[in-house]
Amino acid sequence: MMDWFWTFMLVIAAFLGMEVFAWYAHKYIMHGLGWRWHKSHHEPTEGVFEKNDLYVVVFSLVVVGMFAVGDLYWKPLMAIASGITLYGVAYSLFHDGMVHQRWPIRWQPKSGYLKRLVQAHRIHHAVRTREGAVSFGFLYAPDVRKLKKRLQQQRAAPPAGARHDR
Ligand SMILES: [Zn+2]
Ligand SMILES: [Zn+2]
Repeated sequence: MMDWFWTFMLVIAAFLGMEVFAWYAHKYIMHGLGWRWHKSHHEPTEGVFEKNDLYVVVFSLVVVGMFAVGDLYWKPLMAIASGITLYGVAYSLFHDGMVHQRWPIRWQPKSGYLKRLVQAHRIHHAVRTREGAVSFGFLYAPDVRKLKKRLQQQRAAPPAGARHDR
């Protein structure tokens, strides 16, 4: 049986690793080849769901697969899958709920880190195109002033090859 301490550490590591993974996935997949799904998230939503929610469905299926494989062959994989699940819960509470107000209970942080998280993601949504966005994290938010500066720089001089498609 696996030590509780190491199980716990794996859960935490998977949770933190997910934010790093999500940052890259958001920047290079969702704002890259996967823009077709993510575009809906940068437009006003009609109805309850948006095409971007398909990413959540895909990740959920992957995690279910990880639990199954972990149970059969390698128990630590279940701890990793638990960390990813917790990340999914945090994503749905903070990104979908707090930032985008998609839950019936709405709350806006007035100060502190959570307020910064909301502002940072608003800056991400200041750009409606695939290229030129900043702030790709979902739980980690850099300094808002720095983000605004970077956004202005990107607007003044878009990166080479920037396309404003659709
Ligand atoms: Zn985006
Ligand atoms: Zn968003």
